[in-house]
Amino acid sequence: MFDKLLKELKNLDVMKISIPIETDENGFSDRECPDQDCMFLFKVNEEDWTNNFKDEAVFCPMCGYESTSDTFWTTEQVNNAENQAGEFLEGKIHKAMKDDAKDFNRKQPKGGFISMSMNVKGHSPQKLIMPIPSMDIFEQKIQCEKCQSRYSVIGSGFFCPCCGHNSVEQTFSNTINKIEGAINNISTIRTALNDISKDQAEDTCQTLIEKCLLDCVVAFQRYCDVMYSKNESSKPKVPFNAFQKLDVGNELWREILNEGYTDWLTEIEFKRLNILFQRRHLLQHTEGIVDEKYITKSNDTKYKVGQRIIVKEADAIELVNYIKTLTNKIRNRNE
Ligand SMILES: [Zn+2]
Ligand SMILES: [Zn+2]
Repeated sequence: MFDKLLKELKNLDVMKISIPIETDENGFSDRECPDQDCMFLFKVNEEDWTNNFKDEAVFCPMCGYESTSDTFWTTEQVNNAENQAGEFLEGKIHKAMKDDAKDFNRKQPKGGFISMSMNVKGHSPQKLIMPIPSMDIFEQKIQCEKCQSRYSVIGSGFFCPCCGHNSVEQTFSNTINKIEGAINNISTIRTALNDISKDQAEDTCQTLIEKCLLDCVVAFQRYCDVMYSKNESSKPKVPFNAFQKLDVGNELWREILNEGYTDWLTEIEFKRLNILFQRRHLLQHTEGIVDEKYITKSNDTKYKVGQRIIVKEADAIELVNYIKTLTNKIRNRNE
């Protein structure tokens, strides 16, 4: 009686439903980090995904988590596929039951004393499988310097999803973008917080600006560390935190490039850079309170011992600019 239904159910055992996934206008498809704490969304150039990526290892651009390629579907894609597959199967079973009912009714003897008919209720039309749409394009496109794979992220990406390479250039430019973004947003944040509390607005903005100084120096130090060790004539071992000290860093570069910070910046600029580096040191170690060492090392005549330094947006912008100038020189000289 239920021949068609039974046949259809048997088919389900071997049935594979394939649901196409669309790429965006740039030919990038959506991916998501499988680590539940991260779930970072990113996009990968579909051509590169097919040609360069390996099934056994794909990396999350944000946290570097490594897993097989079939675990990087987005939550959106998985939900969409499950829904479509469910509706598709429902439609197939419903149709088989309707066909069975039709057969059953056809086979009933006409004009008999008892008449039976079977009716399958409900409306479940055969579903067409629709391609899963892609998210809108992401602005930030990145190409891996090592394997050339192209991918796209919102905000920051540190690792190439194809080869896992952690690019010092990428990391540095991410940090600088973040710092510049923060500085540019200070006045908006101040205005927004002023409505709640003027004290809070000032404190929050001050913390943000000071953090820019701290982040700048860390980013610069890390960039120098990696670039210096890449150079074949560099010393095998560089003292810890060497590039946090401008005079030490200046000498290290001079040894291998015959040029240093004092060639790349004017005398006044280098003096200002030194003051900003020393102020960063105070923020890190004395909560910004001026000590004897600071006065000696910075030659800053603005403050006396015991005062607290003031850092303004303009100082942070100035430091970002010096650091960009220096890293540009280091990049060019190392090429
Ligand atoms: Zn991740
Ligand atoms: Zn790569």
